Amino acid sequence: MATPDPPVTAPPRATASAPSGPAGHRFPTLFSPLRVGAVELANRIVMTAHVTHYGEDHLISQRHVDYYTERIKGGAGLVITEVQGVHPTSTAGFPEVCFAFPPEAVERNAALAASVHAHGGRVFAQLWHSGMHTDGRLFSHYIQPVGPSSLPCTRYREPPREMEEEDIEEVIEGFAASAANLKAAGIDGAEIHMGHSYLIGQFLSPYYNRRTDRWGGSLDNRLRLALAVLDRIWERVGADWTVGVRISADELVPGGLGLADMQQVCQALVARTRVDFIDCSVGTFNSGAIMVPPMYFPHGVNVHLAAAIRGACPGTPVLAVGRITDPALAEKVLDSGAADLVGMTRALLCDPELPNKARSGRTEEILHCIGCLQACLGRMHDGKAISCLLNPAAGKEREWGPGNLVAAAERRRVVVVGGGPAGMEAARVAAQRGHAVTLLEKQSALGGQVQLIVRQPKREEFGEITRWWPRELERLGVDVRTGREATAEGILALDPQVVIVATGSVPDKTGFSYHECDRPGMPGAELPHVLTAWEVLESPGRAGGRVILVDENGSYEAACTADFLAQRGHKVTVVTRWFRLGVDIPDAVIGLLYTRLAKAGAEVRTTAVVREIAPDHVLIENVFSKSSQTEPCDSVVLVMGKTPCNRLYRELKGRVPALHLIGDAAAPRVMDQAIYEGHKAGRQA
Ligand code: SF4
Repeated sequence: MATPDPPVTAPPRATASAPSGPAGHRFPTLFSPLRVGAVELANRIVMTAHVTHYGEDHLISQRHVDYYTERIKGGAGLVITEVQGVHPTSTAGFPEVCFAFPPEAVERNAALAASVHAHGGRVFAQLWHSGMHTDGRLFSHYIQPVGPSSLPCTRYREPPREMEEEDIEEVIEGFAASAANLKAAGIDGAEIHMGHSYLIGQFLSPYYNRRTDRWGGSLDNRLRLALAVLDRIWERVGADWTVGVRISADELVPGGLGLADMQQVCQALVARTRVDFIDCSVGTFNSGAIMVPPMYFPHGVNVHLAAAIRGACPGTPVLAVGRITDPALAEKVLDSGAADLVGMTRALLCDPELPNKARSGRTEEILHCIGCLQACLGRMHDGKAISCLLNPAAGKEREWGPGNLVAAAERRRVVVVGGGPAGMEAARVAAQRGHAVTLLEKQSALGGQVQLIVRQPKREEFGEITRWWPRELERLGVDVRTGREATAEGILALDPQVVIVATGSVPDKTGFSYHECDRPGMPGAELPHVLTAWEVLESPGRAGGRVILVDENGSYEAACTADFLAQRGHKVTVVTRWFRLGVDIPDAVIGLLYTRLAKAGAEVRTTAVVREIAPDHVLIENVFSKSSQTEPCDSVVLVMGKTPCNRLYRELKGRVPALHLIGDAAAPRVMDQAIYEGHKAGRQA
């Protein structure tokens, strides 16, 4: 069935009201209201759409409701739900993908709208079709991905079927039916996803759209789907609703849509239909990490793009995104005229109370997102429900939200041993519940392994951990004692009712591999030029010019220590038994690290192990062919297993009323698990 040309008549566009922020705090513009389409937002802080994997039955879940409501309770003006598909072929690779088109979506979205409204906030839903970026093998009922052209997706590597007229019509109708469902549910508006090279973006972009019919070629033809979708939605929902678009203001791919092209696209959209706001993201599946920029990018990295789009579309509210993690920066972005709204998505994931803290002058209490991506995007890419490295309550609001941290029935004497992330979080939560907490740390400063991580290039933002936690511990009256190693007798002398052992781990220097349990270690590991990553980070001068770094655990520790050495001029060769360096690091981030390493002249040998170490070389063996070769070197850096430091736990067992073993001291793992266990122990104390 042919799709009619989009009508050019559309309901009039709402205009932004002038900033009129309340006096009495440092962020008058940030906390000023703004009219967007048919709704008034209480302030300019937005949690933008991001995939959570919280869906149930492919619908918005109670977990979503709790998660978004927590951010509204914390003071955000608007939340935009994660993508809600408009057609069964819109799934990307998200096993819990939510759909907005089924009738049951109304009830689930209604629960969300009611909860958000009850706390004075607004909620939009993001409507989306993933197009060519669809994993057709995601479910046992295989899906046939569709797209404007038959180019394969870079992530899922499947070529889609080129869409025919009736496919396009079905998708347009899917957007309209989904928008009608959202409106019926009481959701305040919709954001139509036209960016990140999803379906509408694919049609817009000459990079993805290779069609020669009326849907491809000229700008008018490439705009046809976007306009048809918006017009059909307006026909269906009427003028008293709000609909905006999310765009990639620069696709950052050669032959794709640059900023000037997107200015033209946006101008055409606002001139030819009604667009209530423009959310300016950036990048495509082919542009690397910039879509969700990690700590390797500066704060506010995309603000200039929002400013350019705002300049091209005067009168249409524009939303800026990209590492806006602090209210002072957000205020500056708004005051500079770059944008009308700020997306503070990961900032709110990390600290849902950021707006209320900023508004009440408690900025020092804000826990800032550090851009690590470890528990948010990293987990999302693994198909796991997202959380936050620094805030383990994220995604567990019903059980662990700030309002659920109840005072302990009885004030107990709690001793926490170990001032790394796990111990500090245990002490903080226990103190917040009203316990009398003593924290013992053998080093002169708190932070544990964080003290080393911040030395790695571009990882200094981990210093938020050694800023925020000690300050919170002080604020909560925790008795912090540093610089002396705890003993069992010393702990017992404090007469504790609860002891939490968070004494961490130490790197194993034997070269033992759990993949080769038949040998006790790596021959030559005892030689003086063999170091651990910790030793190198503590004393970089100990590493020689040519370094072999062994990545056995696939972690940031190996990749970022290799980066540390390479940037300091060492000739680094990484040897890993896996198919790539840093197998536990999301693709986007490891791509950045590979780029940094390659530019610094480092080399990565995959599917290889160091068989033995000699004073001036190592023997490297391929894990499949078993062929080997020698490689000269001056130093060897092992990033292999770690040994838990749990002696105190064993000595105290049975001698105190309650004893917990958490974090690396229980089993050396990643930091999000350590902080999670610290939080849990603090609640259990
Ligand atoms: Fe920010 Fe890291 Fe938390 Fe993600 S996991 S929200 S990047 S601090």
